[in-house]
Amino acid sequence: MGAVTRVAILGGGPGGYEAALVAAQLGAEVTLIDRDGVGGSTVLTDCVPSKTLIATAEVLTEVAESSELGLDLGEEAVRVDLARVNARVMRLARAQSADTEAAVERSGVRIVRGAGRLAPGDRVIVDLNDGGTEEFIADVALLATGARPRILPDAQPDGERILSWEQVYDLDELPERLIVVGSGVTGAEFASGYNALGADVVLVSSRDRVLPSEDADAARVLEDVFARRGLTVLSKSRAESVKRQGDGVLVTLSDGRTVEGSHCLMAVGSVPNTENLGLDECGIAVDSRGFVTVDRVSRTSARGVYAAGDCTGVLMLASVAAMQGRTAMWHALGDAVRPLDMKTVAANVFTAPEIATVGWSQAAIDAGEIDARTVKLPLSTNARAKMQGISDGFVKLFCRTGTGIVVGGVVVSPRASELIHPISLAVEGSLTVDQLARTFAVYPSLSGSLAEASRRLRHRD
Ligand SMILES: Cc1cc2nc3c(=O)[nH]c(=O)nc-3n(C[C@H](O)[C@H](O)[C@H](O)COP(=O)(O)OP(=O)(O)OC[C@H]3O[C@@H](n4cnc5c(N)ncnc54)[C@H](O)[C@@H]3O)c2cc1C
Repeated sequence: MGAVTRVAILGGGPGGYEAALVAAQLGAEVTLIDRDGVGGSTVLTDCVPSKTLIATAEVLTEVAESSELGLDLGEEAVRVDLARVNARVMRLARAQSADTEAAVERSGVRIVRGAGRLAPGDRVIVDLNDGGTEEFIADVALLATGARPRILPDAQPDGERILSWEQVYDLDELPERLIVVGSGVTGAEFASGYNALGADVVLVSSRDRVLPSEDADAARVLEDVFARRGLTVLSKSRAESVKRQGDGVLVTLSDGRTVEGSHCLMAVGSVPNTENLGLDECGIAVDSRGFVTVDRVSRTSARGVYAAGDCTGVLMLASVAAMQGRTAMWHALGDAVRPLDMKTVAANVFTAPEIATVGWSQAAIDAGEIDARTVKLPLSTNARAKMQGISDGFVKLFCRTGTGIVVGGVVVSPRASELIHPISLAVEGSLTVDQLARTFAVYPSLSGSLAEASRRLRHRD
């Protein structure tokens, strides 16, 4: 290596751009290659657009459930203008992309627009979006090329009636009857969001409950709320095919039943963007599904080549992608680095109510994988929740049996994403329930339930 390390980053999502910022800060000469716009799918098609849509849905949920607070909503229901909502979504996504690009450029990173690949001899080759190719040498490379929606052969999106999550923002009118296929996080979020916006929603779930990978009590709360709001969940129902039928869609389930709707949204997972990256030629190992294999400091099987984010399949979250990208650069450029610890990752499902989790899960505790004590407090006993008319949800806190060190928690409530942070801090800093119990919480506040939960754990053997 020369005096200045030359870093090439393929992919401008959070895995890529956060790494670029760190590498520039550490004095490297950084080139960020991006095909579709800085910010990546996170900003342009996935996370930012869906959460912007859900911001509108959130307001509608509050309005719909506000009569208890003494509001007379009158005869006219609040109606959503989906064309305006979607125009706002896309405007905001483009602005966020531009802001991110400007921040990356300001840090001294060179941005090349095109599709990059690696070649033996530390070479990076870019097929430029404007035509032609560019080739250069990099001492360190980071693959952060993300993932894309998985497409089932018998359920091909057409962009009009059968939609991937990237295509929903082209809708000008609210779907009359939306069938969402897939009850993982993405499916549940869209089902919840469109239900709040006023669409008739059917959620097709191949498992026996929604959100099969989340806390079971949290999923149960959500299923009850869905049922109360008229959202139909078809559990243990695998969609076999989705076809256009006149002006609508026909979903055929594996047991032969059919479901009719005006639109269908496919949310059946992601596949990694790892084709045509030169992985084979450069000796970079992938798993059976095509995800790049990495260790906890983001190293691939090839020297000097790192990978971060959805293309590794470690945990498909923007925050994890960003941490993997930063970790890669800290490691490659000789800064202090800590291996990625999945037991400190906070995650949120943006349904109504939201479900936020961090650390060890209840399922792992019940299975005896860790010796921990648990407490669950319903929000219905929280003074602030009562004032705000919040009746669904709870907080759970987990601590080690002997030491009382907080090892995880779950929050189910509106804005749970904002409430999980104290538990994340406790998990990251190995704080004890005793310390949490001594920490002031505002009265009245939802976070008061976290303090109460820690007091309960503190006083139990
Ligand atoms: C609907 C939806 C909602 C989500 N909401 C959230 C959320 O609320 N919170 C959260 O944490 N996560 C969320 N996620 C997950 C999150 O979007 C991903 O984990 C995140 O995008 C991963 O970032 P990344 O950097 O790996 O890839 P991406 O953001 O996908 O970026 C990869 C970039 O690389 C580019 N690229 C691909 N190939 C090449 C190449 N050969 N050369 C150059 N560039 C290339 C792509 O065009 C893209 O711009 C959501 C996902 C979905 C589908």
